[in-house]
Amino acid sequence: MNLSERDSAVIWHPYTQMQTAMPPIGIVRGEGACIYDEDGKCYIDAVSSWWVNIHGHAHPYIAEKVAKQLKVLEHVIFAGFTHQPAVELAERLLSILPLDQKKVFYSDNGSTAIEVAIKMCLQYWHNKGEQRTKMLAFNDAYHGDTFGAMAVSGRSAFTSAFDKLLFGVEFIDLPNADNIDQLKAHISGLKTELACFIFEPLVQGSGGMIMYEAEYLDQLIAHCKQEGIFTIDDEVFTGFGRTGKRFACDHLKHQPDIMCFSKGLTGGTMALGVTTCTLQIYDAFLSDDRLKTLFHGHSFTANPVACAAALASMDLFVDPSTQQNIDRIAAEHAAFAEQIRGHRRIRAIRQTGTILAMEWETGNDTSYFSSLRDTLYRYFLEAGIVLRPLGNVLYILPPYCITTDQLRYIYRTIGQALDTL
Ligand SMILES: *Cc1c(COP(=O)(O)O)cnc(C)c1O
Repeated sequence: MNLSERDSAVIWHPYTQMQTAMPPIGIVRGEGACIYDEDGKCYIDAVSSWWVNIHGHAHPYIAEKVAKQLKVLEHVIFAGFTHQPAVELAERLLSILPLDQKKVFYSDNGSTAIEVAIKMCLQYWHNKGEQRTKMLAFNDAYHGDTFGAMAVSGRSAFTSAFDKLLFGVEFIDLPNADNIDQLKAHISGLKTELACFIFEPLVQGSGGMIMYEAEYLDQLIAHCKQEGIFTIDDEVFTGFGRTGKRFACDHLKHQPDIMCFSKGLTGGTMALGVTTCTLQIYDAFLSDDRLKTLFHGHSFTANPVACAAALASMDLFVDPSTQQNIDRIAAEHAAFAEQIRGHRRIRAIRQTGTILAMEWETGNDTSYFSSLRDTLYRYFLEAGIVLRPLGNVLYILPPYCITTDQLRYIYRTIGQALDTL
C-alpha cells in the first residue's frame, strides 16, 4: 500500500469532508518551492503550505540550526526556567517590531497566540476592576479555530455548529472613506464596554484575501487609542514579509498594543506562536496579589527547537536577498495582474505585496463550496501546482525563494485555465 492508502485507513484530515475528498497526495520530500510525491512528481507549493513556508522546503540552513539545537536541548518546562533560543528570539523579534512592543509571551500556534492576546485584554480590565468584556472585530474576520479565536472570527458555515456558544462580539465592516466617521461614532458609543479591537491588518486572509487600505485602519487604531480601547494586530498571516514590508504594521503610522505571530515565524519548520505587548498591559499583571497572574501556558510553550527554527528563519528573513525576492515577486504579480485584468472570467483582482488574489466569475455559485473551487484545485494539481482557492477566490502566495520561471509557469497555467475551463 502507498502512503495515501494507508492514510485513508487511519487519519482524519483538517477542513476535509472525508466522504467525498480525493485521497491525499503522499509527499516524500521538499526542496525550494517544490514538494515531491511518491512517484517523484513535483508540485510548486504556490500557497506556501497554508501560508507558513516563507524560505522554501527543507531549507538546509534552518535544518542545520534545528539539528544542532536538538543535540543540545530539545525541550524544557518554561515556567521557572528559560533557555538561550527563547531569550535570543524575544530580543531579536522585539528589535524589529514597533518600539513600544516590550514583552514576548510564547505559545505554540496562531490560534493560541490569539487566545493569549484576548486573555491579556480581558484580564487587564478585570485586574483594574472594570467591567469591560466585549470585543470589537471585523465581519468576515478569521483569527483561528479554538473557541476564543473562533468567537472573534466572522460567523460562517464553519462556525454554525457552535454559534450559540460563542461569546459576544461586536462586528463592524471594514473601514473606507465612506463609512469611517460612522464607524468611529459607533465605537465611541460602545467604549465603556469594549475591552479590545482585534483585526487582520490590510488583508483578511481566510475571508477570501479581502484587502483594505492602511489609511483607514490607521484612523481606527488612532480612534481606539483615544477612547482607551486596546488594539490587537493579528499578524499571524501578514507577518514576516507577506504584505511587501516586514510586518503589515510597517504600513501604518499608529501602532497596536498587542501583536500576534505564528505562520511565517519559523519559516514553516515548527509550530510556534508569539504574542507581544506593551508595558502598559504587562504592568497590569504585576502584583502581590497572585490572582492578577496571567494563568495561561501550554506544554510546549517556547519549545527550544521551534525557537531555534525561528532564529534561523530570522537570519534568512533579515538578509537583504529576502527583501529583494519579496520585491521581485510583488513586481511579477503586478505585471501578471495587468495582463489578465478585464478578462471575462475575472470579476476582481487584487494584490498586497506577495499576495495576489483573483475572484472568478461563477454565475450565482459564489460560496466557499462552489464547484468551481474543486475544478480549479484539480486542474492546478494536474499541472503540478498547489493552489487552494477560497471559494471562487484563487490566490498565489509563494515562498520567497520561488524562481521567476516557476512564477511565470503558474501565471501561464492560470491563463490557460481562464481560457479553457
Ligand atoms: C491561520 C490564522 C490564524 C490561526 O493560526 P493557526 O496556527 O492555524 O491556529 C489566526 N489568524 C490569522 C490571521 C490566520 O491567518
